[in-house]
Amino acid sequence: MISPDILDLDFPAYLERIRRFTDEELIPGEAEMVAEGAVPDRLMTRLRELGLFAITLPREWGGLGWSVEEQVRLTFEFTRASCVYRSRFSTTIGLCSQVLLDHGTEAQRQRYLRAMAAGDCVAAFALTEEAAGSDAGNVQTTAIRDGDDYVISGSKRYITNGAWADLLIVFARTDPETPGHRGTSSILVPQGTPGVSSRLPEQMNGHAEGPVAELFFDDVRVPRANLVGEHEGAGLRQALRGINHARTHVAATAVGQATRLLDEATRFATSREQFGQPLADFGAVEAMLGRSYAELEAGRALILDCARQFDGGEIPAERIAAAKLYCTEMASEIADRAVQILGGAGIVGDHPVPRMWRDVRALRIYEGASQIHERNLARYLKKGVQGASRR
Ligand SMILES: Cc1cc2nc3c(=O)[nH]c(=O)nc-3n(C[C@H](O)[C@H](O)[C@H](O)COP(=O)(O)OP(=O)(O)OC[C@H]3O[C@@H](n4cnc5c(N)ncnc54)[C@H](O)[C@@H]3O)c2cc1C
Repeated sequence: MISPDILDLDFPAYLERIRRFTDEELIPGEAEMVAEGAVPDRLMTRLRELGLFAITLPREWGGLGWSVEEQVRLTFEFTRASCVYRSRFSTTIGLCSQVLLDHGTEAQRQRYLRAMAAGDCVAAFALTEEAAGSDAGNVQTTAIRDGDDYVISGSKRYITNGAWADLLIVFARTDPETPGHRGTSSILVPQGTPGVSSRLPEQMNGHAEGPVAELFFDDVRVPRANLVGEHEGAGLRQALRGINHARTHVAATAVGQATRLLDEATRFATSREQFGQPLADFGAVEAMLGRSYAELEAGRALILDCARQFDGGEIPAERIAAAKLYCTEMASEIADRAVQILGGAGIVGDHPVPRMWRDVRALRIYEGASQIHERNLARYLKKGVQGASRR
């Protein structure tokens, strides 16, 4: 439950509270998280109390009602800590709650949105399958009508929070005759429905304390009322605003991670000496630090600008894709430089930089791999859509 005092804070005071929480609890809690191999329950409770499950929902649904720009500013702060913390609430505050907010029936919104904002209902977004990764329209899982029910069969993989979510939003083919995304729908499947099972991977290379799951649907029966929205076949189209919103958050996450990485690298470079002087005074190291700062600030400005456009009622899909592409590549590059500056300490031992270096790598793969954004942006330019070359 959200602490009552949080509800009274204006945005600057809330931002300051989250900044302090990040510095005083999340970052110091990383060692415990790594030792436990999971986010400690104590910190999960704090995430709920501080309202981090509520930042994207309007007040009428129990949320804190922050604008997209404010959500981005908050994300810059809490993702200075391990992005595994964020992964525990990202799918709930992102795609899942946004799809229900935009397209859920009144009954679905009443049942789930307030619980999501309180952190009492963790949701997972189950789209990816073996045959449907970047080619997301090629979903093979089926949801076939049988009387007043759907019967769902198939499997999903790489699903964040999939193993412990209370609610799964499952993308399934409701019309096997119609290929591509037009034949798919999103359907709510409460965890624990007979026929649903999950499996965690044996190994994670990055995000180790927040593993993704495989999900299996063995003739899972749910009522027709669990279809999101009124019509079948709208699954991926319905998610479009949510997908742009999620990409905005991923770009902001990359900025938060890069901020911390640069901070760690600078601190290390000023404290370690070689050849009788701090590493930070060698021109080659100065170049890495200076370039990293310039790229970080470019990414920060770009995603803030996209967020403002979003708040203005326009969804700048191409600029958001460009920001997601740029910021995630930038964070990876800064992580790589940080490891280089640390030398052996970037490979051996328990410094946070190498852990974050592995974590940020995944940002270039989910919410559209970099190559998919490059391809789509090139197509956008080639189509000569008005304004593309001017921006
Ligand atoms: C940590 C993590 C969390 C995730 N969470 C979720 C989740 O909650 N829900 C969910 O549904 N999914 C989730 N995913 C899955 C993620 O969305 C997919 O991994 C991603 O879409 C890529 O699909 P794929 O892994 O099958 O790679 P593939 O589609 O096989 O692509 C592999 C690589 O091939 C290249 N490639 C593919 N197609 C093209 C093309 N047309 N042009 C050029 N290059 C191309 C790219 O370099 C790409 O990285 C998660 C993944 C990770 C790693």
